[in-house]
Amino acid sequence: MMTVKSTCCYCGTGCGVEIDVDHGQVLAVRGDPEHPANFGRLCTKGLTLAHTLHADSRLAEPRLRPGRLGPGQAVSWDVALDTVSERLAAIIAEHGPESVAFYLSGQMLTEDYYVYNKLARGLIGTPHVDTNSRLCMSSAVTGYKLALGADAPPCSYEDFDHADCVLIAGSNMAYAHPVLFRRLEAARAANPKMKLIVVDPRRTDTAASADLHLAIQPGADVALFNGMLHALIWDDRLDRDFINAHTEGFAELRHAVREYTPKMAADICGISEEALLTAARWFGEAGAVLSLWCMGLNQSAHGSDKNLALINLHLATGQIGRPGAGPFSLTGQPNAMGGREVGGLATALSGHRDPANPQHRAEVAAIWGVDALPATPGKTAIPMFDAIAAGQIKALWIVCTNPAHSMPDANKVREALAACELVIVQDAYADTDSVAYADVLLPAAGWAEKDGTVTNSERRISRVRRAVAAPGSARADWDIGIDAARRLAARLGRGAHLFPYAGPDEVFAEHCLTTVGRDLDIGGLSYAVLEAEGPQQWPRPAGASQGAARLYTDHHFATDNGRARFHVARHHGVASPISARYPFHLLTGRLRDQWHGMSRSGRVPALFAHTQEAALSMNPGDMARRGLTDGELVRVSNSHGDWVLPVSSNDAMLSGQLFVPMHWSSAFVGSAGSNALTAAKIDRKSFQPELKHVAVRVDKIDLA
Ligand code: SF4
Repeated sequence: MMTVKSTCCYCGTGCGVEIDVDHGQVLAVRGDPEHPANFGRLCTKGLTLAHTLHADSRLAEPRLRPGRLGPGQAVSWDVALDTVSERLAAIIAEHGPESVAFYLSGQMLTEDYYVYNKLARGLIGTPHVDTNSRLCMSSAVTGYKLALGADAPPCSYEDFDHADCVLIAGSNMAYAHPVLFRRLEAARAANPKMKLIVVDPRRTDTAASADLHLAIQPGADVALFNGMLHALIWDDRLDRDFINAHTEGFAELRHAVREYTPKMAADICGISEEALLTAARWFGEAGAVLSLWCMGLNQSAHGSDKNLALINLHLATGQIGRPGAGPFSLTGQPNAMGGREVGGLATALSGHRDPANPQHRAEVAAIWGVDALPATPGKTAIPMFDAIAAGQIKALWIVCTNPAHSMPDANKVREALAACELVIVQDAYADTDSVAYADVLLPAAGWAEKDGTVTNSERRISRVRRAVAAPGSARADWDIGIDAARRLAARLGRGAHLFPYAGPDEVFAEHCLTTVGRDLDIGGLSYAVLEAEGPQQWPRPAGASQGAARLYTDHHFATDNGRARFHVARHHGVASPISARYPFHLLTGRLRDQWHGMSRSGRVPALFAHTQEAALSMNPGDMARRGLTDGELVRVSNSHGDWVLPVSSNDAMLSGQLFVPMHWSSAFVGSAGSNALTAAKIDRKSFQPELKHVAVRVDKIDLA
C-alpha cells in the first residue's frame, strides 16, 4: 500500500488530501494534516472522493460520432486526433482561425489550461478562448483589477484568525466552502468579540449563524454598501490618512453616495435602517475587517459594481494589507485562479497580461516564439455561444465542462451546439449533457489519475498527483492537447516548436517564466520547490524564501501610480425584474453535498443523504395562498423554459422569493434544470451572466 499527497478537486478552498492506494485502487481519502488550507479537515465531498473513481460511465476510449448518433464508434487515439487535426485545419483554411473556439474549465489543472491557451492563441491564432470561470469569478477579477490594479486576492485564510469583524456577502459558505467555514467558526470561538455579518436574501445555514443577518432584496448589494459608506462618512469613521496617501477618486465617490442615505438604502434593500447602521458601525469600529464573497455578488449583471462597492468600503476605512483585513473573494472552482494566471480567459493573457495591450501581446509572443498573438478581442462565454449559433464560429473544443447544463438560457446553448459544424468534447464521463452534441469524444483522465498543479482562493499553488491509472486509454488533458497540437502544427506547416514538453513539470516551468516581473511572479517556483517545501502562495519570485501571505502590506497598489482607485457604483437591481406575468424572484445556489452538474458527486450515494432530490423552496405563506402542499409537483417557468419539480415549504425564504439548487441536469431530471430558466444577461464590465436570479411564475401541476 502507498499514500499519495494531492489536492481535493471540488471547491476553491484547495484542501490537501492523502490518498491510500493498494493494487492500483484508491482505498480511502483523508485530509492532509500538513496542508495549510485545511490542516487535515475535509468536508463530505472530499471524504467521499474515492467513490467517484469507480463510476461505470467513465469514458475509456476516444469515440467518433458521425451525425452525433448514439455512442458512436470507438477508435484509436491516432484516428481520433488525426480526425481532430484534419477537420480543424480544414475549417481554419476555409473560414480563418477565428472560426475556432475553446471553452475551458476551472476544473482543469494549470498545466492543462496553459497548453490549450497556447494551442488556441499561439498555434491556431484564435482569440476565442474562454472558460466556465467566466460564470463564477470574472466580476471579482474585474473588481480587483479596477480597484487595486491586479487580479490578486490580497488575503490569506489565516486572516480569519485576526479579524474582528467578518462580512460575508452572497455566499452560503457553510455549504459552498465548508472547511473554510469550520475554520471561521473556530476563529469566532477563539475571539468571542468577533462580529459576523451575513448579507443574503435567504436565511441560509451561514446566515443563521451570523450576529447580524441582512436579508436584502435580490440585487440590492450596491445600495447596501453605498448606504454603509454614507453612514461611515457621516459618522467620520474613515481612515483619512490612508485615503489621502494611498487612493484616488474618493471625492467623486463621496459625492455619489450622498443620495444613498441609510433610510433610502435600507428601503431598497428591504431591511431596517437600524440594521444597516449597525453593520456600518461594526465595520467602522473593528480593528480588522475581512469581507468574504462569492457567487451572490459575482453572478449578476452588475457583479463588477457589487465588487467595487464592497472594495470601496475597505479602501475608505483602510481595511486592507494588514492581518485580518481585506476584501477576499472566495473562488468557487478548484483552479479558477490557475486559469486566470495562465490567461485562460478571453479577457486575459498569460501572466495576468491584457490581450488589448500590444506590449503584453508582444511579451507573450516572444516567450512562445511566435510572430504575434491575435489582436482582436476574444469572445467571452455568452457571445461565444451566440457566435456559434450565428454560424461565425464553426468549431468548438470543450474541455472538462458541461455548457449544455451550466450556461444560462441553456436551451439556446443546446441549439447552438446542435448547429455547430465540429464539436469536440473532452471529458472523464460519457453521460454529461454536452456529450450528446459531440462529433469527437476524447476520454480524459480524472482526479487522482494525472499530475499538475492548482491554485486556491488564497493564491496557494498545490500539487495534484497521480495515484492510480486512468480507465482504458484515457489521458491527461495537457497530454491530449500537446498531441493534438503537434498533429495540427504539421498540417498547418507552422508551430512545430511550440509544444516541446515531456511532462507537466516542463509546462509549469514555462508558465513560471511568463510570470516573471508580473504581480504574480512565481519565478522562484518549480515542481522541485513544491516537492521540497509543499504548497506555496504567490508571488514567489526567484530568490524569495517563501510566498506572500498578504498583498499591499506597504499600501503600494498594482495600479500605474501605486494608488488604489475608488469607483462609483450605482444601484440597478436585478436584470430580470419580477412582473405581473412572472411574479416570483427565483434564486439559484448550491447544496452542501453536491458539486456543479453532479457528473462526479452525483455518483456517490452517500452524498444524497443530505438532499435526495431537487425541490423548489418556497415561503410557507406563499404556498398556503396558492393552495400548495409540501411535495406537490409544480411547474416553474418563464420565457426561457420550464422545470417541473416538487415544492418544499421553507421558512428561510422571504415571501415572493424561491430557491432551486443548480446541480440537477438532464442526466437527472430530463431538462437543463435551473438553467432552463436563467437569462443570458451579462455584466458589461466582466461579461459574467446573472445566473443567481431570474423572474418566474409557479403553477400547480394538475394531475387529474
Ligand atoms: Fe474539497 Fe472544498 Fe470540501 Fe475542501 S471544502 S474537501 S476543497 S470540497
